[in-house]
Amino acid sequence: MVGNKNEATDDVAIVGGGVGGVLAGAMLAHAGRSVILFEAMDYLGGCSGTFERDGQAYNAGATTLIGLEPPLPLGRLARLLGLSLPAHPVDPALKVHLPDRSVRMCRNREALLAEFSAAFPEDDAEGLWRRAFRVADAAWNIIGDLPPFPPRRTKEYAQAIRLSARLLAEGGLDALRPARRVLSPHVRTGDFLRCLDQLLLITNQAPSREVWFLSAALGLSYTTLDTHTAMGGMGAVVEAFAQKIPNVLKGTPVRRIERQGSGYALHTPRGTYSAPTVILNRDIWGAASLFGPKEPRMEKERPEQHDRWGAATLHFMVGDVFPSGMELHHQIHHDQNPETGSHSFFLSLSHPDDRRLSPRGYRSVTISTHTALSLWEGLSTGVYQEKKERLRDFILSHLFRSIPEFLAAEKGTILVGSPRTFARYTRRTGGTVGGIPLRIRDFPFRYPTFRTPFKNVYMVGDTVFPGQGWPGVAVGAMGLVRHLEPGILL
Ligand SMILES: Cc1cc2nc3c(=O)[nH]c(=O)nc-3n(C[C@H](O)[C@H](O)[C@H](O)COP(=O)(O)OP(=O)(O)OC[C@H]3O[C@@H](n4cnc5c(N)ncnc54)[C@H](O)[C@@H]3O)c2cc1C
Repeated sequence: MVGNKNEATDDVAIVGGGVGGVLAGAMLAHAGRSVILFEAMDYLGGCSGTFERDGQAYNAGATTLIGLEPPLPLGRLARLLGLSLPAHPVDPALKVHLPDRSVRMCRNREALLAEFSAAFPEDDAEGLWRRAFRVADAAWNIIGDLPPFPPRRTKEYAQAIRLSARLLAEGGLDALRPARRVLSPHVRTGDFLRCLDQLLLITNQAPSREVWFLSAALGLSYTTLDTHTAMGGMGAVVEAFAQKIPNVLKGTPVRRIERQGSGYALHTPRGTYSAPTVILNRDIWGAASLFGPKEPRMEKERPEQHDRWGAATLHFMVGDVFPSGMELHHQIHHDQNPETGSHSFFLSLSHPDDRRLSPRGYRSVTISTHTALSLWEGLSTGVYQEKKERLRDFILSHLFRSIPEFLAAEKGTILVGSPRTFARYTRRTGGTVGGIPLRIRDFPFRYPTFRTPFKNVYMVGDTVFPGQGWPGVAVGAMGLVRHLEPGILL
């Protein structure tokens, strides 16, 4: 099937082995399509990959798996494909460290409400979260059944109308209100609002004043779903889905795509492959470059530049000095970080029993924080290195204050990453990550979709509808597969 120049023809060629490419490929292979997937790196996963450095393994970016229970998209896909994923439940899913207090975001709803009510006694956290639960429950009930977006076929319109009516009947009108309007009667202190906004940043990529309550409710209540840590790293979960794709070529970047008869030729260092259908698992800004230096039709599709976030990261091994049962995921809030513009960072520790990420009494640490891309542009090598050192020191000083065990613990080499690092290792254009924010003005109708101006060329990943993390990318991949295989039961 796969060979040298101009030999191979598959039904569907997928460019990129991130979450979107792999999930779409696994579903299409399950539906009987002949699928070939090209991944530039020698490991799958992209922003959800697990890389090795000096024999130690680290999660590149993503660390939290949400929604493995079967009615939800990832659980549903795992069940459809007969996969048992290497994942371990975590509860509380997240501990939030404010400068003077902390809040544990528990699986149990009453426990979560008690934590927030105790931390913010002047605010009405309980009233807010009860409204969020109602909307989120209604949204999770329909999310796995969304038709391709925007709908085109009569059947798809009918399904969209049916699901919207169900969302409103079960979730009420709050789903259609701007988040800030729903929040305002419940929020009385600036501390509470700042805390909510940092929580929304990791799930909606935007603060409450910019998003709908529909997406805010999903973001604020995600810890009350089953939340997991991936054993062996997030890359192990991607690999589990990829087992269902017969042809996966790692270390094989697609350099150029051109029309060939009624299909496409994909040029790689290993040779040229052809396929009638192509799925691009690239960010929306990078996809055009595969068709030539300036492909005017795809250029037009790009959303505006200012919609983009980058990430800065720290990766290191730390001696396992932590109390047993300590939370694996932490969000630490602080004053503005001058190196990134952010007000918080997210820290994940590997599970102590994870033999790949936690060898011989050590734990693998991934820290990530949002950053404005502009703060990293045009820097000379020396200035860039100094900036990374200041970033490291800023984060570590706040880490030691919030989780003092880190201060005395033995630490390995600290790898500092920036948008340049993401651009290099995940090929995200300019280092942009995390998808396009779910802003009111864009979502859903101005959000990019899986369709491209080219016949039988599609997009998948976190910069196409509905974006945002594994659940969003899974929903987007399911919509695309429903379009390509209208008869498939997902
Ligand atoms: C720091 C950080 C933390 C995050 N935390 C979480 C979290 O805890 N939970 C969560 O659900 N989500 C999280 N996310 C979001 C999540 O990681 C992403 O939304 C998701 O992984 C994006 O998947 P994607 O399909 O868009 O692919 P990408 O991650 O963009 O991967 C694309 C892949 O395509 C490959 N590729 C690109 N061009 C080519 C080419 N020409 N030829 C061959 N291969 C190519 C790349 O090498 C890459 O492997 C986080 C993201 C970041 C950056």
